[in-house]
Amino acid sequence: MEYELVRSRRRSLEVRVFPDGRVQVRAPQRLALRHVRAFVDERRGWIEKQQRDMAERPRQRWRHGDRCAHLGESLTLELAAGGRRKVARRADRLGVTVPEPDDERQVSDAVHEWWRAEARALFQARIEQLFPWFAARGHRPPVLRVKKMRTRWGSLSQRGYINLNLLLMQYPPAVIDYVVMHELCHLEHMNHGPDFHALMDRRMPDWRHRRTLLEG
Ligand SMILES: [Zn+2]
Repeated sequence: MEYELVRSRRRSLEVRVFPDGRVQVRAPQRLALRHVRAFVDERRGWIEKQQRDMAERPRQRWRHGDRCAHLGESLTLELAAGGRRKVARRADRLGVTVPEPDDERQVSDAVHEWWRAEARALFQARIEQLFPWFAARGHRPPVLRVKKMRTRWGSLSQRGYINLNLLLMQYPPAVIDYVVMHELCHLEHMNHGPDFHALMDRRMPDWRHRRTLLEG
């Protein structure tokens, strides 16, 4: 199996499969190659399944008339040429103005930049909505960071940051709330043990259903 090996100052091995099927293995600086190979061999079945899933997944295209998911709705892209980048939603259409609308990269970049601004306001509002119970328990509100992440929807750092994936902007607000609640519950329990799930059940009884929407 072909893979790219990236050495870094990490302590454990990690394998990633990218949407184009490429495999990357991240390994500690000095770990012997035979350990890396054994690690990849052990996960061969999982890697191949990921590659098959990725290949079957239709890739988002950014041409005039293509569909783009936004907060759980499906919007139609309406592209126009113009010197100034602009993105504006009009009912079920998403108008995108870029210098070269035939360049899908320009269109995708413009939409992602627009999402970033929208996500900051929306995610912040959702955190503030869900936070009072945690505030009453003596927690400080985490500081929001919006990031494009390949492998996760959110994370909570011990240093007081809540990281949320920009691509959550494709999903309905109920799903975004699920991810926010999941991360906030880590303020109480830093793991995914029974206490964590019991807290999720109390704070958001239908969280399993919301998670299905995210996985689908
Ligand atoms: Zn978690």
